[in-house]
Amino acid sequence: MSTSPFSFNFNNRFVEQLPADSEQKNYPRQVFEACYSRVTPTKVSSPKLVCAAEDVAASLGIPSDLLQSELFPQVFSGNQILDGMQPYAMCYGGHQFGHWAGQLGDGRAINLAEVVDLHGQNQTLQLKGAGMTPYSRTADGLAVLRSSVREFLCSEAMFHLGVPTTRALSLTLTGEQVMRDMFYDGHAKLEPGAIVCRVAPSFLRFGSFQLFTARKDIANLKQLMAFTIRHDFPHLLDQEEQFTPEVYERWFAEVCRTTAELMVHWMRVGFVHGVMNTDNLSILGLTIDYGPYGWLENYDPGWTPNTTDARGKRYCYQNQPQIAQWNLFQLANAIAPVIGQVEGLEKSLRDYADKYSNMEHQMYAQKLGLLNQNDEQDQPLITSLLDILKRCEIDMTIFFRQLATVEKMQTYDKKSFLTLFADTFYDSQDDNVATAREDELLKWLLKYQCRLQQQKLSDADRKIQMNRTNPKFVLRNYLSQVAIEKAEAGDYTEIKTLLSILKFPYDEQPEFEHYAQKRPEWARSKPGCSMLSCSS
Ligand code: AMP
Ligand code: MG
Repeated sequence: MSTSPFSFNFNNRFVEQLPADSEQKNYPRQVFEACYSRVTPTKVSSPKLVCAAEDVAASLGIPSDLLQSELFPQVFSGNQILDGMQPYAMCYGGHQFGHWAGQLGDGRAINLAEVVDLHGQNQTLQLKGAGMTPYSRTADGLAVLRSSVREFLCSEAMFHLGVPTTRALSLTLTGEQVMRDMFYDGHAKLEPGAIVCRVAPSFLRFGSFQLFTARKDIANLKQLMAFTIRHDFPHLLDQEEQFTPEVYERWFAEVCRTTAELMVHWMRVGFVHGVMNTDNLSILGLTIDYGPYGWLENYDPGWTPNTTDARGKRYCYQNQPQIAQWNLFQLANAIAPVIGQVEGLEKSLRDYADKYSNMEHQMYAQKLGLLNQNDEQDQPLITSLLDILKRCEIDMTIFFRQLATVEKMQTYDKKSFLTLFADTFYDSQDDNVATAREDELLKWLLKYQCRLQQQKLSDADRKIQMNRTNPKFVLRNYLSQVAIEKAEAGDYTEIKTLLSILKFPYDEQPEFEHYAQKRPEWARSKPGCSMLSCSS
């Protein structure tokens, strides 16, 4: 009998119901006809908990005093495998930057187990950075503190913003040092190793399905599709569990819808994923794999935080919705052989664009506090605002919060109107920027006031509604960098402060006003703040 104080309700259906790699040894290789390989996390010298998300722990039934125990970091660094855990790494492929890359797989992620949480939902507990797996290729299977802080904080920030995402239970230091060349420029250095325990109902990606198709392994593709629908989309099946072409088509339509919804959320909050390869798109429409992501500061639709993508900017902010559709197209190609007909899939792909633009329009109408939608009038208002935000170097997040304070009947003089937005302007040497602010922004604001006058909603009620959709606090790029630098010096307080602020991103939290300020000048082009790489 186990004496573990953890009382997990294990339900390891992935390993129990899907084909395993027959090879038990852990060395890099191609893995065929299997969804996963059994692998044990590499032992680490002195695991130490940096931070845990207490609400994630609570929903998993982990008592809060256990978070402070010595056992907790032992388990969530992978040093101690509890009875009932069956660790494994998942096999998948993917298109990277538009090119088929073959087998990728969990090169440094190891799933410890699946458990049923207190809401009856299956959750997979996954360690990121827990050592080599058969999918590590030439890399080390590890993760550093810098990128782990970013993943831990951002997954929690996204969740509290209402954006679908994988969660993060814990951030643990391993006690090891890991060699990383942050900008691949010959300046490698040792960094503290760390492990994040991620939590999600499923870590399956578009690439999980693609790999079988690329290998013409339709039998296993079919099995994985059936598994996914049965467990993650059970509402699509009738009592007989018939996997008809229509069921598969409805499944794909749903993946298109949740992916479109996810894109709308990213655009709403100003999030740029940075590496939207098909292995980084979740079948559940969750934000997954936080790497060189970033948050828009000045509204710049062409911005990408990922230095690896600096030239092509394939994954910049404004491209995300189309890239998601491109990825869905790859998924459709992957699942088509099982369905045997493509019309339904093609229809969903076509509908994606319409559905996305409708949802995007609604999202901006909400950001602007516009009711009783009047598309013909509102679309030009939205389009011209976005153009002005871009040309005027305006902070996106602060702008929409300030916009909620505009009073519809107030007669502002030029100066006082601009003063309302002074805190949203970035320093600019460009005369055109100043002119656009004084001229076009003001003109737009007057039009906006006219539009508001056409609706009954009071200023106070509009503000409440707008502030529910326009966050005050996001994980600004420089905020994580400050937390990382302190953590690297052994001070974890900033991570905890950020975690607590970002739990209430739509609230004013006056004591933390400075966390809502625009990017300070020192962070304009500092590595880690505006430039990130895949090195993590
Ligand atoms: P990404 O695009 O960062 O999600 O990763 C692409 C692929 O590289 C995935 O298969 C990862 O598992 C793998 N990978 C990234 N970093 C490492 C690492 N340090 N060790 C082993 N595999 C890695
Ligand atoms: Mg990935």
